[in-house]
This record gives sequence, C-alpha cells and structure tokens, in this order.
Amino acid sequence: MSKRFAAILPVLPVAAAAIGAGPTFAAGEVNVYSYRQEVLVRPLLDRFTKKTGIKVNIIFAKKGMIARLKAEGANSPADAILTVDAGRLIRAKQAGVLQPIQSSVLGNSIPPQYRDPEGYWFGLTVRARPIIYSRTRVKPSSLSTYAALTDAKWKGRICIRSSGNIYNQSMLAAMIARIGAAKTESWARGLVANFARRPKGGDRDQIRAVAAGLCDIAVVNTYYLAGMIDSKRASDRTAASKVEIFWPNQKGYGTHVNISGAGVTKSARNRSNAVKLLEFLVSDEAQLIYASKVYEYPVKSGITVSKVLAAWGRFRADKLRLSVLAKHNAEAVRVADRAGWR
Ligand code: FE
Repeated sequence: MSKRFAAILPVLPVAAAAIGAGPTFAAGEVNVYSYRQEVLVRPLLDRFTKKTGIKVNIIFAKKGMIARLKAEGANSPADAILTVDAGRLIRAKQAGVLQPIQSSVLGNSIPPQYRDPEGYWFGLTVRARPIIYSRTRVKPSSLSTYAALTDAKWKGRICIRSSGNIYNQSMLAAMIARIGAAKTESWARGLVANFARRPKGGDRDQIRAVAAGLCDIAVVNTYYLAGMIDSKRASDRTAASKVEIFWPNQKGYGTHVNISGAGVTKSARNRSNAVKLLEFLVSDEAQLIYASKVYEYPVKSGITVSKVLAAWGRFRADKLRLSVLAKHNAEAVRVADRAGWR
C-alpha cells in the first residue's frame, strides 16, 4: 500500500456532504475488489490514477467476494467492489457489505433502471442477452420473442448454459417481474423441452456449439460473441462468423439486459476516493474506454459503441429496473429447478 497523505481533503461536492457521518481519510489511494478481469479494468484504473493521482490497489477475486467482505467486516481493506450482474450487486447489498452513496454525477449519468434506487450499487456498462442463431440453418424471420423459443419447431435445437449461472437466473427473475412466476415456469419447461443437450459450458461454448451444428440457436451475452469476432484465435473467429444476433422482444418490452457495476463498501476507509473512482468510471472518457475494450454497451447515453457492437445495430432494451430482480431471484432459482433446467 502506498503512503497515506496527511493533507486535508478539499471540500467535496455533493457526494461527501450527502454521505454524512464518518471520518473521511485523506489517503491518496483506493482499494478495490474486482470480479472483473485485470485486462478489462486495468486501462481504466491507470487512466484514473493518471488523472487524479489516486493510486488504485486492486485484488482480483473471481469467487467468494461477498463472503470475504462479510468475514472481514469493519476491518476489510476494500473501499469499492467491481462486479458483473445486478443479481450479484443485489446480493452484496443484501449481505450488508455496501453503503449508500448519493452523487449527482452518478445519478445524472446512469439511467435509473441501471442503479439501485437507494444508491448501494451503480451500473457502469450494459450487456444484452439476445438470441444467436446459425446463419445457415435458421432464418431470422422464424425468430421473434423469448416466449416463441418454446415452439415445437425448435425441439432439440436450443443450447443454453446451466440455470445455476447468475445470467440465466437474472433473465428468469426479469421475466417473472414482467409476466409472473407461473408463465415464466411454463416458458422454462418449454425451453428445456427444446434443449439440444444438457446444459454445459459457458456462453462462448453455446456459440461454438451452434457453429459446430450441435444446436441451431442459443441465448448468450453479447460481449462473448463480440470477443470471439475480434479474437486472436482463428477457431473463435470462424465460429463467430457462422452465427448471427437476433434481438428478441422488439415489439414487446425489449431484449433482456443486465449490467456490470460497482458499489462502495460499508467499511470503506477511502470513501471519497471510492466515490471519485465510480464517478470517473461513468465519465465520457471512461465510458469510451469501456466501449472499446470490453465489448459492452456504455451505461451513459450519447457514447459511441465499439465497431462490432455498432454493426449489430440498435435494439430496444428492456427498461425494467434491475433492482426489482432482488424480489425474484429466489423464485427464479425455484422456477428453473421445477422446470428441470439443470
Ligand atoms: Fe460473463
């Protein structure tokens, strides 16, 4: 850890004033626990340090971040967390390891559906979970909605990863919020009935399976396909060239989307620096870096998306407030279970 600066912090804007109680340390650093890979966030953090002089110490923890924060309690060195999926951010809030932040910069930059209404977590990028299909075996005119994936014509033709994965749980939770648990369960049953195989692997594996002819359609997060299109591996580029994206529900409530996001920890000793980091991550500059490096959609409007994403065109995204997933995640898991989605 770097030396702590004894200088008195300048009076902070809205953020610190609104946070209220508690001492603000004047250390020139911020400690981050990240679920996101280093290659994705490093360019952003370096830029933040260059601009502000605030050193970012980062620990990459793929698993058990919330448990770790809980175990460390008030002694946790973490000031902020970076993770993916509103479902995980909601769990962090429920676990009591985050604190509410009020910041007009965050509030003005992030649409309300992509942040916690109480300020415990904030979306930084948007990812969509559309349908991808085989260019040779599926006509896009045969596709329409998620609901229509239960049609008998798709029997034995659909690949999707396990329901143990948070992306599918959040998609089901969003569907429960939209159409109710009973209809979501019958949808899940119909989807399972059309599976080409027992769920296995991650989203990239579903894309590869469609490319290899093991199935004809899959439901995956956009950045996986974008990453394969731009991949250094020829096999991934070839697989990606065999599939196409279809945006479901365009005449209805829109394609399911989720976020990557951040929150400030309850134990944060460098709270004002953590807020500054979050505010930097929604700046135009950071959002542009995100757009070019992580193949996700900027959370802020008016930012150019990367070339690959631009080629897919615009789509209607579901405007459901992702904070409502909190109410439905447990039910989503039960629904998947009852439907036999392993
Ligand atoms: Fe992912």
